This record gives sequence, C-alpha cells and structure tokens, in this order.
Amino acid sequence: MIPFDVQHSSVNKGETLYDTELTLAALGIDLSIIRHSQNDYYDELIHLQPHQTLQMGIINAGDGSGQHPSQSLLDMMTIYEQFGTFTGLKVLIVGDLTNSRVARSNMELLTKLGAQVYFAGPQTWYDEAEFSQYGQYVAIDEVIDQIDVLMLLRVQHERHQPGAQSSFDASQYHAQYGLNQARYDRLKEQAIVMHPGPINRGVEWADELVETPKSRYTIQMENGVYMRMAMLEAVMRGRQLGGLS
Ligand code: ASP
Repeated sequence: MIPFDVQHSSVNKGETLYDTELTLAALGIDLSIIRHSQNDYYDELIHLQPHQTLQMGIINAGDGSGQHPSQSLLDMMTIYEQFGTFTGLKVLIVGDLTNSRVARSNMELLTKLGAQVYFAGPQTWYDEAEFSQYGQYVAIDEVIDQIDVLMLLRVQHERHQPGAQSSFDASQYHAQYGLNQARYDRLKEQAIVMHPGPINRGVEWADELVETPKSRYTIQMENGVYMRMAMLEAVMRGRQLGGLS
C-alpha cells in the first residue's frame, strides 16, 4: 500500500488525475482508492479516449458531495446486522442533506433495498427536486417514535459558502434537529442511531448519548474494516488485475 500525498505530488505542477494514475499504474499499482473534493472526479478515469491506455482499478472513497459507496455499504451491513432485512424499515436521515455524499448514497441504496426513507433538518439543506424521489420530508419530532433507524449527518461546513459558519448557531441546530435525551427516549426499543463520523458532539448528537445502547457509531467504524476488506477483495478479484471497469 502506498499512501499518496497530494501536497507533495506532481498534482501541484499541474498534472491531471489521469496522468497521476497513469504514473501509478506504470509503477505497478493495481488499484487506487481515491477520495476527492470534486463530484464525479472519476469520469475522466472511466470514460477513456481511444488513445488512452490506463489499466487501474478504482474505488471511490468519496467524491465531493456526490457519493460515498464504502460508507453506504458499511451502513447497510450495520442495519442488516440489527434487523436482518431492509424491507419496510423506516430510516430517517437528518441534517445537511444537500452537501452529504453519505446521505446521497444511502438514500439511493436504501430505496433500492426496499426501505422507506424520510428526511429531516433545515429546509435549506433539503432539495425537493432531487430527494423527493427517494423519500418524504418530515418534522423529526413527528416521526421519531416510529422509525427504525435514525441516521445523523454532520453539518458540512467545508462545503458551505465562506462565512456561513459564523452565522450557524450550533445550540439552535441541536435543539431543533439534534438527538437529545427527550428524542432518544421516544425512539422505538429496537431502533438504532447511526452517524458516519466525524461527530460534532453537542450539535447533531448530545455528547452523553453517543455511547448509549442504541448507538451503532463504533460498530459502524468496525464494520467499515470488514466491508472495505471485502470491497478490496471483490474489486481485485473481479478485475483479475486487468482492465478498467
Ligand atoms: N466521513 C463522512 C464523509 O467522508 C461524513 C462526514 O465527513 O461528515 O463524507
């Protein structure tokens, strides 16, 4: 495994992602795991021109606010471990939906698997045109006692307009949309609480409730190890170390 340090790479000299990958492939790398600030960065690596010859497997470890496949799969594993099914499960995703690649991947996959998705949080972070095909926008306090999975999201300050953070009121957010004791107490007995991390304690999740019986926060992290091992194996085997698919 070679950690790739972008700051000290030829990316700073203007090298394209394609050329960086071409270089790594020439050095004998079979598979790149790429996390990138740009949505769909992988387009230039999978839609090759006739004159391009790149042979490299790619796992998307998160692209901008686009998708986060490995987080989504480890989340599905965590939900499946609890319920043994997805059919009919009610999953409430709360928070910065428009800027969250975790929310995007999960709403798509959960819907495909037969779960019922609900959304809550500030309306400015809910895009009706995009999200209504996956689920319904609700008020958290109206559904908290009926859901099976509560999925909390971190507020993605890094993707907001510069200066927006100074007008963000963390305690107000917590009161309106965060998981506090009163909401925790209303959850169904079998319900679980999830968060992709990193947590901002006291914002989306009350500090003292992060490590409670319904929390799956550390289980998600542990499942991430197994799921990512499985993904690596599946991609390496599937490609038989050749070709790009
Ligand atoms: N770790 C997750 C991600 O990479 C969630 C987050 O950063 O809020 O998107």
